[in-house]
Amino acid sequence: MQRTERFQRAAGAVVGSAVGDALGAPFEFGPRGAFTARFPTPGVGGEMCGGGGWDPGEATDDTQMAVLVAESLLERDGLDLPDIFARFQRWAASEPKDIGLQTEDVLTNGMPWDLAAAIHFQVNRRAAGNGALMRASTSAVHFAPAGREATMDAARRIAALTHGDRAAWEATAIFHELVRVTFEDTDPLAALPDILALVRPDHRDRYATVLAPDWHPDQATEFNGAVWPCLGSAIWALRTTTSFEDAIRAAIDLGGDTDTVAAVTGGLAGAYYGLNAIPTRWTQPLHVPLPGSDGRVLHLADLLHLTHSLGC
Ligand SMILES: [Mg+2]
Repeated sequence: MQRTERFQRAAGAVVGSAVGDALGAPFEFGPRGAFTARFPTPGVGGEMCGGGGWDPGEATDDTQMAVLVAESLLERDGLDLPDIFARFQRWAASEPKDIGLQTEDVLTNGMPWDLAAAIHFQVNRRAAGNGALMRASTSAVHFAPAGREATMDAARRIAALTHGDRAAWEATAIFHELVRVTFEDTDPLAALPDILALVRPDHRDRYATVLAPDWHPDQATEFNGAVWPCLGSAIWALRTTTSFEDAIRAAIDLGGDTDTVAAVTGGLAGAYYGLNAIPTRWTQPLHVPLPGSDGRVLHLADLLHLTHSLGC
């Protein structure tokens, strides 16, 4: 795999995820192939189209929560789980345009930070949504230098703030480790068997299925708002394309939870191809409103500054 400057990969992960989120948002819950139907020729432009309540280039909850995690890591000088949870709560109380049902319930049920998700899971039993995986780009960048065990552990603990189902923790841990190995110029797809061996045994089989080289999103047994097909689809998009742009197009064309599938794809593809591979016509209109923070809106330069501060 090509040697790429570490900052290129780190910024690629953070910005790539945000770009995928903003490109996918107008197509959420739409049919298969909607992106290609509207934009048949790659590279032409106009894809940051907005719609469905989103302005062109506007990032959704996926990126907003990733920024909240990043700012906590920086301002608290490391992992402060109660602080991340409190930031999530302030944000959730500020009426973001988009928030996952499960995430909203956990952040507003009045329970303390270390019980809210677990109690939600005990009551509902279904908590394997992709809402923790979707926001992992910044924490993956921050914890990569700490090594395999530390980055996977941090991923699980941040995921557990809103998701009581360990399946959501394991997907986030896999994502963190994929980003880490990519930073070391290792092919993330080639690393998958080794990474699967680090997944908790009782969750390994389901991830081995959706991350297998011959798995196709058509074989998903759940909607791609669930964590297994979401991660599987992102890996599939990376595996079956040869550029950042094509990976994102493939992800959005799957339909369903397009902003999140494209955000996860964009995080991995951005780390793989680097920031320079992300079309500037996509990064230029990109912006991340932050409900609950006095109207702050982050742009590309802010995301690059954030990435630099996170340790790259
Ligand atoms: Mg979203």
